[in-house]
Amino acid sequence: MNKRIVIVGGGVGGTMLANQLAGKLYPEILRGDVSITLLSNSPDHFYKPAFMYVAFNQFFNEEIKRPERSLLRPEIHFNVEEVTHFDFPGQYLKTRSAKRYDYDFLVIATGCVPAPERIEGLQEAGDHFYQYQPARQLAQRLSTIEKGRIFITVSFPQTPNVPHQCGIAPVETTLMLDDFLRRRGVRDKVEIIYTYPTVAQLLRNCLFLQRPTGEILPDIFEQKGIHFQRSFTLSKVDPDAKVAYSAEGDAQPFDILMATPPICAVKAVRESGASQAPNDEGWLPTHHETLQVYGLQHVYVIGDTVDLPVSKAGGACHNQAPVIANNITAEIRLGAPNSVYDGRVQAVAQMGLNAGMPLWYDYSHDVQPTPPTKLGGLLRNGFNRGLYWAVARGML
Ligand SMILES: Cc1cc2nc3c(=O)[nH]c(=O)nc-3n(C[C@H](O)[C@H](O)[C@H](O)COP(=O)(O)OP(=O)(O)OC[C@H]3O[C@@H](n4cnc5c(N)ncnc54)[C@H](O)[C@@H]3O)c2cc1C
Repeated sequence: MNKRIVIVGGGVGGTMLANQLAGKLYPEILRGDVSITLLSNSPDHFYKPAFMYVAFNQFFNEEIKRPERSLLRPEIHFNVEEVTHFDFPGQYLKTRSAKRYDYDFLVIATGCVPAPERIEGLQEAGDHFYQYQPARQLAQRLSTIEKGRIFITVSFPQTPNVPHQCGIAPVETTLMLDDFLRRRGVRDKVEIIYTYPTVAQLLRNCLFLQRPTGEILPDIFEQKGIHFQRSFTLSKVDPDAKVAYSAEGDAQPFDILMATPPICAVKAVRESGASQAPNDEGWLPTHHETLQVYGLQHVYVIGDTVDLPVSKAGGACHNQAPVIANNITAEIRLGAPNSVYDGRVQAVAQMGLNAGMPLWYDYSHDVQPTPPTKLGGLLRNGFNRGLYWAVARGML
C-alpha cells in the first residue's frame, strides 16, 4: 500500500527534510509505494537569518527569498496550503481551502512566530529583526539616529529550558549595531546597552544561555564600549515615556528598544491539542533522540516547533533532518525508527559586520568560543549569499 508522507511547512526544516527523504526513498517513490507531499502557506521560501542583515541595510527583500518549488526535488508534491486543523487519531489534516490530506507519516515543520504583543507596550514601542517588515522599520531608525540610547532586551519562552529563536542572534546584532553606528560616524553619541534576563534556560543572572560564551562577553563588550546588564527580564514598556520595565523592578529609558520578543508556535499547532507547554506557547513534546512527538503515532517534528533545549536554528534543522529522514525510511522498510539526534547545532556567528565565529554544540557540550576572524566573516557571507540554498536543497 502507498505510504503517504506529509510535511507541513516549507521553511528550512521542511524543505531540507523533503529533499533528503526523496533521495532516500527514491526506489519506493518510483515504484509508487511512497509519496511525499509538502504543504506550506507561502509560495516563497525565506532565508530567515537574513532579516538581521535587513536591519543594517545589507539585504533587501528580493535577495532573501526563492520560490519554494524551485528548491524541491521534482518527485515532491508541493501545494500552497495553510493547515488549520490536525486530526491525529484520524491521521489527516485540513487546510484553509477546506481540503483534507490523509497521511501515514506526518512531519510538523511550521517554525515559530514572534509574539511582541505578549508583553504590554512592546508591540507599540519596540523594534525587532525577526521578520522582514519589522527589520526594515528598525533599519530606518538605526540609519537616522544621531544621538541617544539603544536598549537591547531578550525574552525567553516561559516553557522551562526552551530557548528563544537563534540563541546567538542578540549578541550578533549588538556587535553589528556597534560597527554600523561607527560606520555612520555617530557611535560616540549613541549609548548601547545589552541586557539579559534573570532566567536563561538552565543559567541564572548571566549574559548568555551557555556559560563559556557568556564569560567572554564582558571583555568583548568593554573593548567596544557596549554597556551590559544582567537580570533585566522585560515585563512592560511605556510607549509614551519610552521606558522599559523589568520583572526585577528596574526602569530604563530608551530611544530605540531593540528586542528579542517572546515567541510561540503557529496557531494551528497551538490549537492542535498536542502541546502541554505553558503560556499557550505550543511547543510540541519531542523525543530527544528520535524526534517523534510524544503520544502520537507516526508524527515527527523538526526545527523551531520542538520543545528541546537546543537553539531554534537552521543549524539545528541541518542535523535533525537526516535523523527524521532515516527514521521514517526505517519505519517503512524495517518497521521501527533507527536513528538518534544528539542535539548537534552548528553555525557561523556574525560577530560584527565583517567577522565570524564558527560554533557547534550538542546536548552534552557547550559552544567553546574562539576569537572572531575575517575568515569566519567570509564563510558566513558565503553561506548567506549561496551555500544556504544548497543546504535547503539537501545537497550539503
Ligand atoms: C533574525 C534571525 C536570525 C537567525 N539567525 C540564524 C543563524 O545565524 N543561524 C541559524 O542556524 N539559524 C538562525 N535563525 C533561525 C532559523 O532561521 C530558524 O531556526 C529556522 O528558520 C527554523 O526552521 P523551521 O523550518 O523550523 O521554520 P521556518 O523556517 O520558520 O519555516 C516554517 C514554515 O512553515 C510555514 N507555515 C507556518 N504555518 C503554517 C501552516 N499553518 N500551514 C502551512 N505552512 C505553514 C511557513 O510559511 C514557513 O515556510 C535566525 C532566525 C532569525 C529570524
